[in-house]
Amino acid sequence: MSRVNTVLGPIAPEELGLVAVHEHIGYGMPGSELDTQWWKTPEQRYEETVPKLRRFHQYGGGTFVDATGICNGRDIDYYKSISAKTGVHIVACTGFVGGDTALRFFAEASVDYLMRQFVHEITVGIGDTASLAGIIKVGVSRGFRMKELDLRIYRAAARAALLTGVPIFTHLAVDVEPALAVFTEEGLPLDRVLFGHADDGVSQGRVNEKAILGGGGRIGFDTFGYDLELPDPPFWGRHRRERLEHFLRVVRDGHVDQVLASADANCSPLGWPGVQGHTVNYIYEQLIPDLRDEGIAEATIHRIFVENPADFLTLRH
Ligand SMILES: [Zn+2]
Repeated sequence: MSRVNTVLGPIAPEELGLVAVHEHIGYGMPGSELDTQWWKTPEQRYEETVPKLRRFHQYGGGTFVDATGICNGRDIDYYKSISAKTGVHIVACTGFVGGDTALRFFAEASVDYLMRQFVHEITVGIGDTASLAGIIKVGVSRGFRMKELDLRIYRAAARAALLTGVPIFTHLAVDVEPALAVFTEEGLPLDRVLFGHADDGVSQGRVNEKAILGGGGRIGFDTFGYDLELPDPPFWGRHRRERLEHFLRVVRDGHVDQVLASADANCSPLGWPGVQGHTVNYIYEQLIPDLRDEGIAEATIHRIFVENPADFLTLRH
């Protein structure tokens, strides 16, 4: 039977509904949860998070994919309580945001060791929660160049994806050639990989869209809402109109079944203030209305936010 792993158990792909495919319940650099300046009680985090997910659910949102991964504040028991409270399905990931956020213990591990860690979290459970990871996170370290550790993680992820059927999503779509080489060498079909953040302000000019799309990969416009129009935009921000036009170009060029969109927002940031005024609900409050204004058909919107993510997240055997 077709299924997708959520923190409250496997569900049928038809139950996902609209999917926010790259989001964060709370993201911070490794160790930030121990910082006395930033430490938040479970109650504070809960208060910051639940209203955002309730609103997402009220708008019709079905599933929230948490892209936080190991070492960056992932907290499965907490996710389970939030999912039960709000009715939003939460898909948790195994893997790492990038080699430079993997703690030394994992940074020194072999491909085989990392692969077994990912497979365990997908098939047995994350820690003692019995929740199964539904996707694998990998990423490019700072500097826009794949490092040896990044490549080791990509290779371990490719092997774990082939063994378990879960897909992979990436932090950054830059320096994609070495990543494509690893996936090809391992025999992983590229439609199992979402190359994320192809739309952010700092990656422009560094994303080989042709190689990603030509190889059958999926492309993530998943930093929607980090707009330079915000009162205090982040360094990876971009003009709203420019991002939207970039997205529309790819959609209209015949790649609609390869695109996925999300907001990469933090419900309750860990160890940093986050970006004020930006939430997962940008998808409903700005992005979908923008697409309608541009004459994008409802069927296409459904394809991008419902059908594509269901196809991507369904365990493939
Ligand atoms: Zn992210």
